[in-house]
Amino acid sequence: MTRGPSDFRSDTVTKPTAAMRRAMAEAAVGDDVFGEDPTVAELEQETARLFHREASLFVPTGCMGNQIAARLHARPGEEAVVEAAAHMFDWELAGLAALSGIQVRPLASARGGLDPDLVRATLRPAGGFRPRCGLLLLENTHNFHGGAVVPVEHLARLHAVARERGARVHLDGARLWNAAVASGTPLPAYGAVADSLMVCLSKGLGAPVGSMLVGDAAFVAQAREARKLLGGGMRQVGVLAAAGLVALRTMRGRLADDHARARRLARAVAAVPRASLPTGDPDTNIVIVRVEGVDAARVSAALKARGVLALPAGADRVRFVTHLDVDDEDVARASAAFPDAVADAARA
Ligand SMILES: *Cc1c(COP(=O)(O)O)cnc(C)c1O
Repeated sequence: MTRGPSDFRSDTVTKPTAAMRRAMAEAAVGDDVFGEDPTVAELEQETARLFHREASLFVPTGCMGNQIAARLHARPGEEAVVEAAAHMFDWELAGLAALSGIQVRPLASARGGLDPDLVRATLRPAGGFRPRCGLLLLENTHNFHGGAVVPVEHLARLHAVARERGARVHLDGARLWNAAVASGTPLPAYGAVADSLMVCLSKGLGAPVGSMLVGDAAFVAQAREARKLLGGGMRQVGVLAAAGLVALRTMRGRLADDHARARRLARAVAAVPRASLPTGDPDTNIVIVRVEGVDAARVSAALKARGVLALPAGADRVRFVTHLDVDDEDVARASAAFPDAVADAARA
């Protein structure tokens, strides 16, 4: 059998599994805008229970979940503290400003975990000329710090600082499942360090669509209204929630395989001349490799010519993401193609 390209562009490229497709075909459904879809209700209750929180809401995308949360936690003209390479700041257009009138206060960090003292100094009440800064946006794992795990103890310190300053906390946990598996952290521990959190079903867990916004019951009731406002009220969406339930119940444990493959791939690519790992050895399923003095877009093109897909993540960085639909053979193929691709790109 001939293989298609080895696709390391993102863990969003996974196709739904046979079990997901079966569950989708057989799902009990109803009009979810009327609150009548039993499969959605089951998914929402089960997700909330996993984090020991009161409620959760099925949203079409992680972006929508994050944007709804920020909108409910801050008023127009207020500020939110966010890590400088965070998805909510850098990769959701200017959603915070455009949708909710929130000004962003980016703070740099070494591996995605903000300095609690700096956060304490930045969160402040309104006064004189200064805007109120009352929202802290966290991300775990941190995508553009190479899938770094921010330890839950660190998140707890930041949460305590926010409490002390009367600020709210939202956790962008698109890959929180990966963080939990890699660090052995129980999910309720994450539920305890944020007012709200968002988790994706459509990344490492392999569901075709969907994310969950988790919080207390009053917050989720407001979030349901905000979802409608943004055009995200969905009808017989139990067909998608059914795949989400399979993802939640059966796909979390296998993330450890993705992490092991990422470590193996990282060791192989880091041994290539000019290459290094600017974000260190991968904690989870993302490998960012720097190719000194070589155009990352050319490396990406040279990889593609060898049947390996990986996206540039900056002028001299290439990002590989492992997931359900890449196996040991794909890792071997990428490891073998990388030295030649770098050599080709350096010559071009
Ligand atoms: C992918 C991602 C999101 C957004 O998810 P979508 O479903 O693509 O909107 C949010 N945060 C992080 C860190 C992500 O990687």
